[in-house]
Amino acid sequence: MYKEAWRKIKEADRIVLLSHIYPDGDTIGSILALFWVLKNSGKRVTLFNATKSELPLEFKFLDGFSKIQDKLPNNFDLLISCDCSSFDRLGIEGGDFELVNIDHHKSNQKFGSINLVEPNFSSTGLVIYRLFEENRVKIPKNSAYALYTSIVDDTGFFSYGGVDSFAFKTASKLIDLGVSPEYIARKIRGNEPLCRVRLRAYMLSSFDLRFDASVAVISFSKEVLKSVGATRKDSKNIIHELLNIANVKIAVMLLETDEYIKVSLRSDENYDVSKISELYGGGGHKRAAGFEVASKEMKDVETEILNLLSTKVLNVE
Ligand code: AMP
Ligand code: MN
Ligand code: MN
Repeated sequence: MYKEAWRKIKEADRIVLLSHIYPDGDTIGSILALFWVLKNSGKRVTLFNATKSELPLEFKFLDGFSKIQDKLPNNFDLLISCDCSSFDRLGIEGGDFELVNIDHHKSNQKFGSINLVEPNFSSTGLVIYRLFEENRVKIPKNSAYALYTSIVDDTGFFSYGGVDSFAFKTASKLIDLGVSPEYIARKIRGNEPLCRVRLRAYMLSSFDLRFDASVAVISFSKEVLKSVGATRKDSKNIIHELLNIANVKIAVMLLETDEYIKVSLRSDENYDVSKISELYGGGGHKRAAGFEVASKEMKDVETEILNLLSTKVLNVE
């Protein structure tokens, strides 16, 4: 499969690298890692994200970040999607094109002409690394930085479920290629926008505990978001902090926008929150899942989700 995917990529000249909407470090790192390898081999490459205003700026230190655009070129030979579980998360129109789908979500809908999907890998960056390794591709330093970023962003710096020796071994090889772990940690963690800090402060002073304090819930209304100057991208992963509270097994975040309520779920190793995101047409992993709900009030969505968690995930009476 890795050989076949690489053959397909080598045959193409004009290539578009697609990241998922509301991107994270894994999807961004993956497209940038591919970008430098393909560009150095003389291909014409476009970096695409459909929600450009939602690009998390902590990744702007990666080479090529400023080249990410929200327009597709008129002509191309091949699309490569990275870290995207379903076609609609790409934010593009369907059409008659070749697509290589590179991902690690177990819920991946295999929408590509070639699907390189590794549900047991902790990040898509690791799938890209394996693709390079299997095809003896030399990894330039800027791609190594991008891959390391993918790995650490999707594992919370090697601390979430799913992290294994492959993640550590790959990180170690990337360090041998010149990556500075300290530099990347400083860029990603030491660049927190003030609005995000204020949003976290609100979260820590306002969350609720339910079901004998086994579930922590936080809701960000439009008014709260406005008062701290934050948007959806500033809420990325902050929910994880609630999961760190002793006894909390599941953390829930709801965030209100003009169009929908965005929901994020996180859980410890004994609970599968992807069961809930599937019910709402979302996706993710066993311990980190998300979805959007339209045309409902935030309070009602919260009640609904807490009920579903109690009956389908926690199994409390
Ligand atoms: P989030 O809570 O947005 O950080 O997402 C957690 C995980 O769920 C990530 O792997 C996302 O890719 C996935 N996810 C979030 N929202 C959706 C959605 N609407 N459809 C499919 N997957 C999603
Ligand atoms: Mn992702
Ligand atoms: Mn990922």
